[in-house]
Amino acid sequence: MQAVSEIECLYIDFDAFFASVEKQLRPEIRNLPVGVTALDSEYSSFITRCYMAKTFGIKRGMKVRDAREICPQISVQVARPDIYVKIHNLILEEIDRHVPVTKVWSIDEMECALIGRERFAAPQLAEQIRAGLAKAVGPYITPSIGLAPNQFLAKVAGDMNKPNGLTVLHPRDLPGPLLDLALTDLPGISAGMSVRLSRAGVQTVEDFWNLERKHARAIWGNIEGERMWAQLHGHKVERPETQKRMFGHSRVLTKGWNTPDKALDCLSLLTVKAAYRLRRSGYLCRSLSVALRPGDGERWSAQTSFAPCSDDQALTRHMRTLFKQGCAQFSKNARIKTVYVMLHDISKPEEISGDLFDFADEDTARSKRWGNIMTAMDGLNTKHGKAMVTMGPRTNLPGGFAGGKIAFGRVPDTEDFI
Ligand SMILES: [Mg+2]
Repeated sequence: MQAVSEIECLYIDFDAFFASVEKQLRPEIRNLPVGVTALDSEYSSFITRCYMAKTFGIKRGMKVRDAREICPQISVQVARPDIYVKIHNLILEEIDRHVPVTKVWSIDEMECALIGRERFAAPQLAEQIRAGLAKAVGPYITPSIGLAPNQFLAKVAGDMNKPNGLTVLHPRDLPGPLLDLALTDLPGISAGMSVRLSRAGVQTVEDFWNLERKHARAIWGNIEGERMWAQLHGHKVERPETQKRMFGHSRVLTKGWNTPDKALDCLSLLTVKAAYRLRRSGYLCRSLSVALRPGDGERWSAQTSFAPCSDDQALTRHMRTLFKQGCAQFSKNARIKTVYVMLHDISKPEEISGDLFDFADEDTARSKRWGNIMTAMDGLNTKHGKAMVTMGPRTNLPGGFAGGKIAFGRVPDTEDFI
């Protein structure tokens, strides 16, 4: 846990997401209070309601029947999860045009780690994302954005000025704006926990702020109390990974892109994109898998393992080897319908013992050299715009964008089902 002095996290939380999507897609309900239910029943309750409905006293969890009594004009919409996932993917694509999404927390919440100059121009970046989303996804699907030294505070900030807000919690201003919040406004402090805190003499965020760190740990009875305290104070808190990370991308190939040559071009770009994310997160990977689905046959996939690396050259080489193996399985004139590449066995360089680096000496030495070059290129691209420096010619993908799938979080990935 270390103190952070800059804005390092941008957190996006969409406002009344399902209701906003319905308003975006159904112009006829835009001026009405809208509630969204999971089932088409008067006894079903709202999973989301728009901000206009809120002004009529409609709450989440309220039954449709009860809502109609206090607000007869309410428009009740039955949730359309498949559409929400599609919009979620469009949102990820758009955010990714401005800054890579580091973690997807739910269908309408995501986090971006900021590096380099992004940290000093974070509010401008946030407004660019907002403008981009309005154009690409629609102006009725509004985000609230929080900027802060860590994810915890950025999430809190995102919640402070809803809807359509932008809130900056700069480390130098802490705890100022936090003192107006209730303890239960902090993620991770439930009603039950606030009772326990109250018994320990902690009634307000200010009381919690002024606690000794060790005291916070004692109240919780475990390290989580100390983590909460540190996060509130703007420290960076590393948590043990609960899920193994993976970095991968897939693509459906349209006509003109489905020949083996073109499919390989596409897969190369997806590999480079995944490698970029890997390096940006400070990770190395030790295996890579490729999956291909021909237009007329069964999906084929294979995985290969190698010395830890993160450079485009090594990863593209491994991808090509697998791709050739896959194509050898298909008929001569086969068209390829989908391609998929995934980087696995992710770890931080410091977690890898020396002999793992040594086991493929020549490859590893080459990877290390390339790794340094790639990191320098990434730095230039971050500073001056995404594609200032590339290795070889840069091709544009069908659809124009290399996609931003991260294989964790709770959101079903439509492309997983291809
Ligand atoms: Mg939300």
